[in-house]
Amino acid sequence: MGCAFASAGVIHGGGALLSRCHFDRITARRLSSCSSPSFIPLKVQYAVRASRSLLSVPYGIRCEAAPSTVSRQAFELADVCWDDIGFGIIPTDYMYVMRCPRDGEFSNGTLEPYGNIELSPSSGVLNYGQGLFEGLKAYRKEDGSILLFRPEENGVRMRMGAERLCMPAPTIEQFVDAVKATVLANKRWVPPPGKGSLYIRPLLMGTGAVLGLAPAPEYTFLIYVSPVGNYFKEGLAPINLVIQNDYHRATPGGTGGIKTIGNYASVLKAQSEAKEKGYSDVLYLDSVHKKYLEEVSSCNVFVVKDNTISTPAIRGTILPGITRKSIIDVAVSLGFQVEERLISVEEVLDADEVFCTGTAVVVSPVGSITYHGKRVSYGGGGVGAVSQQLYSVLTRLQMGIAEDKMGWTLQLC
Ligand SMILES: *Cc1c(COP(=O)(O)O)cnc(C)c1O
Repeated sequence: MGCAFASAGVIHGGGALLSRCHFDRITARRLSSCSSPSFIPLKVQYAVRASRSLLSVPYGIRCEAAPSTVSRQAFELADVCWDDIGFGIIPTDYMYVMRCPRDGEFSNGTLEPYGNIELSPSSGVLNYGQGLFEGLKAYRKEDGSILLFRPEENGVRMRMGAERLCMPAPTIEQFVDAVKATVLANKRWVPPPGKGSLYIRPLLMGTGAVLGLAPAPEYTFLIYVSPVGNYFKEGLAPINLVIQNDYHRATPGGTGGIKTIGNYASVLKAQSEAKEKGYSDVLYLDSVHKKYLEEVSSCNVFVVKDNTISTPAIRGTILPGITRKSIIDVAVSLGFQVEERLISVEEVLDADEVFCTGTAVVVSPVGSITYHGKRVSYGGGGVGAVSQQLYSVLTRLQMGIAEDKMGWTLQLC
């Protein structure tokens, strides 16, 4: 047996199962308020933005305010039809940029107008993939203030990745301050409550020129943001996964455990093949035994059986998701037994419920898994009670609807 599989798993909590069914059903009704004649199509709005005219409209003027979005406190919003934003990039006003020589330290970051960046053709990131990304979200509360969710965790993870790729990295304090500054500079792009969030994308890349294989001589830390809609507009929708046998996302000793850009182009082929066959995404197995669950292309995976929620342990081939970590703590607080350990394919096929976690989806219930042509369904075609409960508890905390007893949210203004 490979040494990567030798150590025992981690068991959290235990205790009695508390009110598993006390959850609020998220019923996100789609409001077609954009038929209003005052609506400006997105294309026009981009053109306006490109001319840098800082066009702001009072809250609710462009899209006739839906009753659920009426706020007691006015705040400025960009001219976007908030009911129609999806997951595409919507350019905003500013990006944050900070540079650093190979043996130096990051300092003097600045906010610059959002736009293209200039890069040497022989930069480390373009030639040798010396790059990392992060992803987190800011939500707007009913009172207009803005909440970040555990941004220091993203800063810690970026530092871990930077160490693996021989890059200098911002300190955690610099990282969090930069995220705050970027969100505040673009705050009119944070969607109104219930309409989505501001997705924050920090990058760390080797931007200095190299030809022989070596760490780049200069690095750039950059943050840009884009408003995104709620992933599940109509309430949680189960996804259908297929287990992949021929391709692997990560190998022991490799870089699967860090958010390096190089991990993502390599999952596109398996993902497109799966989508062509009608699946939502790919579930990867470990590359040594081809037997134990790892994760989905960009999400962690959890398996529910009775009162126990299990997830593959972090051993270098799985990305340590912040949603994963938070779901473990939330589940323990709700009285579930939570285990981080090896999970075999047989076990997942016999589970009561399966769900994925990640910043974009938060919790995504799995409706079916197909393995060697055999399809196993979960949740009886609907959303499992545990997935629904965890989604509800965590999103309410992130959005500031429920009190944050965990101390995970950071209020900006
Ligand atoms: C980013 C990512 C996740 C989820 O991490 P979060 O911090 O929860 O967003 C899971 N798996 C992979 C491969 C990822 O890149």
